[in-house]
Amino acid sequence: MSNFSIYDIELFNKQVQKYSKYFDVDSPKQFTLAQWYEVISRFSLDIHYGKSSVQGREKRHVNYLSMEFLIGRLTGNNLMNLGCYEQIATYLKKYDVELVDVLEQERDPALGNGGLGRLAACYLDSMASIAQNATGYGLHYQYGLFKQYFEKGEQKEKADTWNRDHYPWHTFNSSKTQEVFFGGKIKLVADDKYEWAPDLVIEGYAFDLPIVGYKNDIVQPLRLWEANSEQSFNLEKFNNGDFLNADEVIINAKSLTQVLYPNDNHPNGQKLRLMQQYFHCACSVADILSRHLAQGHTLSEFGQYQVIQLNDTHPTLAIPELMRMLLDQYDMTWTQAWKICNETFAYTNHTLLPEALEQWDLALFKTLLPRHYQIVKKIDRTFKEKVVEKFGDDEQVWEKVAILNNDKIRMANLCVVTCFAVNGVAQIHSDLIVTDLFPEYYQLFPNKFCNVTNGITPRRWIRQANPQLSNLLDRSIEGDWTKDLNLLKGIEKFSHDSGFKEEYYRIKQNNKAVLADEIKKTLGLSVNQEAIFDVQIKRFHEYKRQHLNLLNIIATYQSLKDNPNQDFTPRLFVFAGKAAPGYYLAKNIIHAINNVAEIINHDPMMKGKLQVAFLPDYRVSLAEKIIPAADVSEQISMAGKEASGTGNMKLALNGALTLGTLDGANVEIAEMVGKEHIFLFGHTVDSIRKLLAEGYHPRNYYDENEVLKNAIDFLATGKASNGDKTTFNLMLDNLLNHDPFLVFADFESYVDTQKYIGEAYLNKDKWVHSAILNTARLGMFSSDRSIRDYQQRIWLKK
Ligand SMILES: *Cc1c(COP(=O)(O)O)cnc(C)c1O
Repeated sequence: MSNFSIYDIELFNKQVQKYSKYFDVDSPKQFTLAQWYEVISRFSLDIHYGKSSVQGREKRHVNYLSMEFLIGRLTGNNLMNLGCYEQIATYLKKYDVELVDVLEQERDPALGNGGLGRLAACYLDSMASIAQNATGYGLHYQYGLFKQYFEKGEQKEKADTWNRDHYPWHTFNSSKTQEVFFGGKIKLVADDKYEWAPDLVIEGYAFDLPIVGYKNDIVQPLRLWEANSEQSFNLEKFNNGDFLNADEVIINAKSLTQVLYPNDNHPNGQKLRLMQQYFHCACSVADILSRHLAQGHTLSEFGQYQVIQLNDTHPTLAIPELMRMLLDQYDMTWTQAWKICNETFAYTNHTLLPEALEQWDLALFKTLLPRHYQIVKKIDRTFKEKVVEKFGDDEQVWEKVAILNNDKIRMANLCVVTCFAVNGVAQIHSDLIVTDLFPEYYQLFPNKFCNVTNGITPRRWIRQANPQLSNLLDRSIEGDWTKDLNLLKGIEKFSHDSGFKEEYYRIKQNNKAVLADEIKKTLGLSVNQEAIFDVQIKRFHEYKRQHLNLLNIIATYQSLKDNPNQDFTPRLFVFAGKAAPGYYLAKNIIHAINNVAEIINHDPMMKGKLQVAFLPDYRVSLAEKIIPAADVSEQISMAGKEASGTGNMKLALNGALTLGTLDGANVEIAEMVGKEHIFLFGHTVDSIRKLLAEGYHPRNYYDENEVLKNAIDFLATGKASNGDKTTFNLMLDNLLNHDPFLVFADFESYVDTQKYIGEAYLNKDKWVHSAILNTARLGMFSSDRSIRDYQQRIWLKK
């Protein structure tokens, strides 16, 4: 590794001594871990911004707009990227302090729900690390995603106070404050010239977090906006347009950025959410405009110097907002302003689930954003001419591609019509966008559509999460694989080397021991470390099919009870993940898993054979503990439903073998590692089409498959709920009568594949060989590669 470091350990030492006075102790020996955490973080923050000058770099600045950034703990990551982790760790040893213990003091800033927010965080890391000029724009939520805990097996939520106001890694940037308008009236002041007299003005305060490039002297901001105002507003009155006579449900305007909406892959229809979205966009667009002009560029050059990447449709309002600014503040014509928007915006689609596509109620939209309503209407009208030109006056086509439809405004449509690029997040997903979701748009704009397969940052997901494996890779590979993940190919030649394999295996076992400790600590459960660690860690959603996993666990339990002497490879099933608080079916699945776990873990016959550990409060720092210890990675979504997934990449990179459907990035993982080193099962997108066309009847599977019937009946007869037969009705009725995600159709194939995995694990030599090849062949899933794809396919193209 290079000696790169912009840290001066002597300066750090002085700081430590100074803090002794500040903390009023005789010696740093008396610092608490929390105080060490504060000293280290604050000192590291003194690195300077602005080193990331444009010189020698692409001139186009990427503005990454996302409502979520799931950044995880920053201190350890920043020390590593600054190249001073080892120095600090060594320094602390003088005081008998372990750096890892200090780092445990940080609460994850949980400013995101799941994959989408984590992707944004990985992309910021990669842009800083490969020297792509970029600013991340998000919201400074006071409460991040709720904390999850279990009570009698059920999920409970409590507020996540991440101590925003004392967080050491951000700074209030008072020169960047913006004003945001809401409601009110539009006045026509001259020909085609409008003025907005708002009802409510909220200030946006900028809080900057440093995104530190990996050992390259680059620091770029993640700018998070926080609402501030002395005014109050009435949420109810927005709907009926009676905004000024507010008297009930008064909300302090400051609370606009209080909470992150806890839904994943599901829109939040609330007014407050629309206000959050606009607040985010208005602050960000104004900031981008003023940075652009301050750099001495003209407005007509905007698209040459700026790209605005929309992370899903959540920041779509940036489009009409930029239009409004150019038209009303900078006196541009419609044609000029529209051209700039076409050159500037690019949209990343994250889902095909129809229920997850955002639509806003027009009446609400009009009251809240009257000027934007006019602008969107004009975009819609102008677009219609283009559609008629191409398809004639075909009502059916217009019905599908219109932006305004049935008193709704469809955000994805606004994005596709405006943006110069639209990308999906894995090849299969990008193909389905073109064939299933937007076929008419594809005919209109074939050149807009492209694929950029998601990626993960190797800095956090190996170097930080798996130090032992990193050490082995450092010793076995020439060059820094952290910067060029394709260098991992270099360990392929050791996949038959018994010494290397032994070491690789020992590291996995060490990581399993660490996770076993964590499980013991949180759940009081002692697990068998020789068992297969089979993990499913992700948000709870029907399409991700945690209930398919559960049904196999029940079936396995029943089989072991009936036939205790059968050959069986011990299993530990690990779960982690949250359900949205209002998603009762997903919470019902969590409840069932916990109750089944309780029974299995307390059955003396199962001891060391079959165990289930559901770790509460899934978050980035917990993921970092589970992933290095996994043997099997459950990626079992219904084919066609998981846009990409990134958990699948993190796990495979750390040597877990994937048990998955041909969905999302699993398809590309299978191509990269080879079919022999991954366990595929279940229906494909094509076979599902056929099945559904013939008519799908889940009850037939239940009637005809005894193993499935027994597993379902275990829950239906109250065996996991103290005899109460209704506890899991929500889930059971859904499965038996609808099963929209084809759990029953894939059950048999899943159970068979799980059996096969049990046998495969017995051949340690072959298993470790496959695991090594997974690590070796996962280089393309570095988010550095994703960012280079964005550069080549989108940002540098126009
Ligand atoms: C990677 C990650 C996710 C995404 O997981 P998927 O399996 O791709 O859904 C969600 N949450 C956290 C904390 C993560 O680190």
